[in-house]
Amino acid sequence: MAALNCFPVANQGIGAPVTAGMGGGLAYCTGSESMSVRVGIPRALLYYQYFPMWKTFFETLGAETVVSHTTTKAVLADGASRMVAETCLPVKVFCGHAAALAKDCDYLFIPSIRSMQPRVFNCSKFLALPDMIKATVPEAPPILDTEVDVNQGQRGLCLSVYSLARHFTWNPLRARKATERALEAHRKYRRMMWQKKLGPPQAIAEMDNTAATEARHAASGLRLKVALVGHPYLIYDDFVNHRLAHRLEALGAEVYTPEMASPRELDAAVSKVEERAYWTYESEVVGAAGYYMEKDVDGIIGLASFGCGPDSLMTDVVEHYGRQRRAKPFMCLTIDEHSGEAGLLTRLEAFLDMLARGKRR
Ligand code: SF4
Repeated sequence: MAALNCFPVANQGIGAPVTAGMGGGLAYCTGSESMSVRVGIPRALLYYQYFPMWKTFFETLGAETVVSHTTTKAVLADGASRMVAETCLPVKVFCGHAAALAKDCDYLFIPSIRSMQPRVFNCSKFLALPDMIKATVPEAPPILDTEVDVNQGQRGLCLSVYSLARHFTWNPLRARKATERALEAHRKYRRMMWQKKLGPPQAIAEMDNTAATEARHAASGLRLKVALVGHPYLIYDDFVNHRLAHRLEALGAEVYTPEMASPRELDAAVSKVEERAYWTYESEVVGAAGYYMEKDVDGIIGLASFGCGPDSLMTDVVEHYGRQRRAKPFMCLTIDEHSGEAGLLTRLEAFLDMLARGKRR
């Protein structure tokens, strides 16, 4: 067991550590290992970073994975009605997805993720996610509330991975094989995104062979290059962000996102902008903004969630860094469930006009 290379550091593109706690009185698998259970994975929050890894892990153990549909008005309304108003938008969306899956699976996989890098932490919402869903979605099936904290050391991670795997098998070799395959899938996924310049939805589709990869940069003759930085669950949820990337493309911009840089480049940019990372997602906000400020892009748009403490701090850091260096124009768009499309479009058009004027000069 000690030799098992458990899910380690996310931002290095290796994977997230997954540990398992016994969630909600789950019954472990006994005897037969041919059971086929359905594990529900909400299409929200960390889905965009880890879905291929989670899917591979569960499917190698003989389970079936079920993913909720893309976000809709009804999903958001349901999630928002179950959560207190102060909760950030992405967590409300997550709650709606969990509720939508509740009747379609035997387990819901909702890890409690504290830390994915030594001394770098997630916001408290990620830690409390399983408990929030248990409290707000009472009809949910048992929750696999895996705990993730790399600060607990390799042994803790290994024990947790095996505890999670024991819901499906008692055979440690099968658990090990599932972990190795999951890690390999995650490496491939990350590599594919930055090498082929794909976003998570396109990379997941390509790995699944379910749909043709969307040729996000296929259009020729685009004049402006715009980097879109922020959490993947904001950038890639088209309902939540009002199809921001598509709108930018429709307005003639070529869009770049954090996943299109390698994890190493993002980490190096974080160190340039600030001494060390404090939040797990610094690479996707601070790192990506710092990286694109030195690249051939015309402007940067930061996408933040209203009511998000880490976002407001990180956006401040980026703005300050950009101003000091007279770097690329930066605009922060803060969204919540009440954000209107018209206002968003007006701001986008104005920003792109400004970039175009600057470029002409
Ligand atoms: S980082 Fe911000 S947006 Fe993400 S879950 Fe935490 S509070 Fe919500």
